[in-house]
Amino acid sequence: MEEMPRRIAPSTDRAAAALLLGCTANQVGYCGRCQGLTRRYGPAAQVVCAACRAAEAPSRDDSAG
Ligand SMILES: [Zn+2]
Repeated sequence: MEEMPRRIAPSTDRAAAALLLGCTANQVGYCGRCQGLTRRYGPAAQVVCAACRAAEAPSRDDSAG
């Protein structure tokens, strides 16, 4: 089974989220899709969180046209 990245709930403490994300607390912001916490600011910023990116990534496409 593939391991899906976990969404970080918006109620999560910024400092705790920063530890999970491997960034600093002032780089933490809300995901543009799910409003979970992600590394929203800084040099490696991701507007969309890892969980949403994983859900969106086309791992397989059975209905290719
Ligand atoms: Zn998200």
